[in-house]
Amino acid sequence: MKSLYGKFILFTIGIMLVSSLLAFLGVNTFYHQKLKVQTDEKNVEIAIGVADTINQTENTELDALLSTIATVGYKIIIVNNAEEVTFYGEDFRVNNLSEQAIQQVLQGDVYHGMRDFPRETFVTGFFADETANTAGVPFEHKGETHALFMRPNIKMLFTEVHLLLGGMFIGMAVISIIGMIFLARQLIKPIVKLTKATKQVSNENFSVNLPTGRTDEIGLLAKSFLAMANEIEAANQLRKQFINDLTHDLQTPLQNIQGYAGLLQDSELTVETQLEYAEIIQTETRRLSTLSKQLLLLTTLDSHTSILFKKRINLAEQIKLTMRKYHWMTDKREISVISEIADCTYDGDPDFLEKVWDNLFSNACKYTQECGLIELHLFETEQAIIFTIKDDGIGIDANQLPHLFDRFYRADSSRQTAIAGTGLGLSIVREVVSLHDGKIDVESALGAGTLFTVTLPK
Ligand code: ADP
Repeated sequence: MKSLYGKFILFTIGIMLVSSLLAFLGVNTFYHQKLKVQTDEKNVEIAIGVADTINQTENTELDALLSTIATVGYKIIIVNNAEEVTFYGEDFRVNNLSEQAIQQVLQGDVYHGMRDFPRETFVTGFFADETANTAGVPFEHKGETHALFMRPNIKMLFTEVHLLLGGMFIGMAVISIIGMIFLARQLIKPIVKLTKATKQVSNENFSVNLPTGRTDEIGLLAKSFLAMANEIEAANQLRKQFINDLTHDLQTPLQNIQGYAGLLQDSELTVETQLEYAEIIQTETRRLSTLSKQLLLLTTLDSHTSILFKKRINLAEQIKLTMRKYHWMTDKREISVISEIADCTYDGDPDFLEKVWDNLFSNACKYTQECGLIELHLFETEQAIIFTIKDDGIGIDANQLPHLFDRFYRADSSRQTAIAGTGLGLSIVREVVSLHDGKIDVESALGAGTLFTVTLPK
């Protein structure tokens, strides 16, 4: 039985059978230990009652009396002194009354055939329709000793009420089995649907239809599954987009390098043109090198869920070093830099954090016009260390801000001004900051400068 449905039914029927068997064994034991003796006592009492009635009334019509008793539900055997046997009531299934039992009663003793009936596990003595399974007592009739053996007629004991109860039990069993089959089907149905949906998702078909209206565990499972499918779809989309962007970003500089390298082979070029082409090849090679370094860094960041290497860092020193690194650029473009850097230390990954200041500062330099202004602040509050960098450069359109930290995203403003870039810097910044459990915010408007705020919790 491989299916859950089959197993469920098999187990339930198995449980029903085992419980019935255990109940039967319990009842059987109870019968042998207690009920058997009680039944014997009760029947001996009835037999004595019958014998007393016969003893007390001399002129009893024995035949008529015994026949009447038989019709109300008893099977009776009478044995006289001459050992002549007369039966009243329905026939016994087995006639195995021993000679010894007959003699015992004729000599005045009581026969406890029901109490002493052999112990059998599965056939309770209560139902054994045998002459040995009777209560026997002596009585006197017309001066002669007789033996009276009797037991209830089981067939007659099964009255309409018993039939009704039996029918009710069978009905209950049938209804519960049908109900159980129906229930199993209802329980398994959503699981079958989920299995189908899983196959669909694994084939990259994400438009799965699952009922999410249920409030039970199955409903929760369906909701979680849909959420998971949506996330896989988004991740899949992102992966495709990433490969697409990456291919494009690799293709463009490679094409340029190939093209200009081909042009350089022309021997009639002036030295000036040759230098110009060589410069372009250099720029494109630098771009490829930056791109591959950034990709490598992003892959490293992706494989981390928390900072592995933590060290006490002097952030003020690190930021000042970054400013010095880009001094040539600010100098060349006559950009003024105002900074207010408090002496802050922080426990974090020094290499990763250096990339944050580097990317934010180089962006501020890149996207600010000549003679612009960059302002930097580093300060400490009770809960966090805060770094802000503000420029009065080209700014970013408000509706592009939500995508700013996406991989390969470049705002229109920077594309239009043809400023070189890969669109990976800010995603690296965000990854590093969130690995330190911090956050980065941006405020900007087209043509009105940009402000980035990095918050690192202590
Ligand atoms: P890039 O290599 O293109 O600079 P980034 O991920 O660092 O990549 O930045 C993504 C985009 O965000 C940039 O292309 C630019 O459009 C925009 N951007 C980032 N910093 C600034 C800034 N200081 N001023 C204006 N635009 C910015």
